[in-house]
Amino acid sequence: MILRNQSIAHLNTFGLNATANLYCEIESIAALQSVWKSNLLVQSSPLILGGGSNILFTQDYPGLILLNKLKGKNIIEEDENALLVSVSAGENWHETVLWAVKNGWGGIENLSLIPGSVGAAPIQNIGAYGAEIEQVLVFVEAFDFDTGQVVQLSHSDCQFGYRDSYFKNEGKGRYFITAVGMRLQKNPTVNVGYGDIQAVLERKNMSQPGIADVSAAIIEIRQSKLPDPALLGNCGSFFKNPIVPVATLAFIQQHHPEVKSFPAQAGFVKLPAAWLIEQCGWKGFREGDAGVHEKQALVLVNYGTAKGTEIIALAKKIQQSVLDTFQVSLEMEVNRV
Ligand SMILES: Cc1cc2nc3c(=O)[nH]c(=O)nc-3n(C[C@H](O)[C@H](O)[C@H](O)COP(=O)(O)OP(=O)(O)OC[C@H]3O[C@@H](n4cnc5c(N)ncnc54)[C@H](O)[C@@H]3O)c2cc1C
Repeated sequence: MILRNQSIAHLNTFGLNATANLYCEIESIAALQSVWKSNLLVQSSPLILGGGSNILFTQDYPGLILLNKLKGKNIIEEDENALLVSVSAGENWHETVLWAVKNGWGGIENLSLIPGSVGAAPIQNIGAYGAEIEQVLVFVEAFDFDTGQVVQLSHSDCQFGYRDSYFKNEGKGRYFITAVGMRLQKNPTVNVGYGDIQAVLERKNMSQPGIADVSAAIIEIRQSKLPDPALLGNCGSFFKNPIVPVATLAFIQQHHPEVKSFPAQAGFVKLPAAWLIEQCGWKGFREGDAGVHEKQALVLVNYGTAKGTEIIALAKKIQQSVLDTFQVSLEMEVNRV
């Protein structure tokens, strides 16, 4: 059913007030096909919404918003070591992680508690705690708005990069992702080398942790560091960690020998954007209802009635001050509409 002038304030985790001119919930591929056959897409391409946890509305949406409600999980292949699962795109990502962990299937436990839908996960190649979805992703199934057909894209078709994929570039606006195929391991080895995971496990006296222990540790760390969008509007990391030439790192080290850096392609390093923002004095900053989270400088927050344009204005000031101070350009991670 197509609705007009629908509020989408409760459908984005920033809690931004906006309306969709046209709005439709998609519960089946047949529903997508009938939207495609109608003349609704003639005026403008549709905007697909999952959990609304990586999107910032700066205005009412003039076209059609399709809310993804495709559900289902299937095992496609299985042997003694691994299984290939296909998860419908409207399934909740974190619940899918918990489902895998409960069954003892490893590969996505480090991505615990990332909000949003399964279908959005490949869009920015979600990542956290030393893992990215591309490490387990085998295929993406998608409805192609150019042809009206459901197609399968392979891992290499997806052109994954750091918080990046084909769907954010050449494929942008062309596909409605309907399902994601992932290979999960039946005898998984855990990955505890990142951040505070090891410290939390040691505190709990876990010398031989399994995937459920790693998932629980990551949930605990994330809950202690990140604001819960149900309580304080946000979209997680607002900026990507910048990848800069090693000469830029050397420049920063002249005044800040303590700066951390992480490996990237030859001649480049990845810098922690949160550190750069914090050094410029933005942590805990608030202007009206738009602010920078007091515990995590990478997270911009809406204290109540901030507009999307106010959050963007704050983000631009942060970008400028990091550029002036460190000669580093910060790229926004969040999708703007
Ligand atoms: C507290 C918090 C913590 C977070 N932590 C992380 C983190 O650790 N790592 C990380 O990578 N991200 C993180 N995020 C960002 C976010 O959770 C992910 O990017 C997630 O994948 C977004 O899913 P969603 O369903 O909410 O997408 P939405 O916000 O609904 O959509 C995001 C984009 O994808 C498009 N899209 C959505 N679904 C589809 C589909 N089925 N087909 C085609 N296009 C689609 C939308 O049009 C939009 O452009 C965090 C966000 C929050 C609020």
